[in-house]
Amino acid sequence: MSDKPVPTPSEDTARFWEACNEDRFVVQRCTDCGTERFYPAAACPNCWHTDFEEVELDGTGTVESFTVVHRAPTEAFEADTPYVVALVTMGAETDVTVMANVLADPGDVSVGDSVTMTWEERDGQQLYQFELAE
Ligand SMILES: [Zn+2]
Repeated sequence: MSDKPVPTPSEDTARFWEACNEDRFVVQRCTDCGTERFYPAAACPNCWHTDFEEVELDGTGTVESFTVVHRAPTEAFEADTPYVVALVTMGAETDVTVMANVLADPGDVSVGDSVTMTWEERDGQQLYQFELAE
């Protein structure tokens, strides 16, 4: 068992975390106005409509910004330092932004880099991460 935290699914996020366990990254698209939202939420942040369809993204994205973590927030992450936490804009057909680790040497990561999603298993839950695209 890892000392790192794992998500606790809620009524609104359970379906998302189930999809992650199938190595699928899905976002919610409002069936009224078309706004895509991530993280999963009960209502559209644009129009408050509650119905949505699930859209699977292809896992590709572009680093919009990033930081290098040198001081771990908890002991569980100390062995990983220094590590990269990035804001990644996903794919060409969406403007969803995702924050996650980029599993690479911090010196190798730049704004504008192409990344692809990869998965880390932690206590039975698949968690999304990124790696530099080849
Ligand atoms: Zn909406």
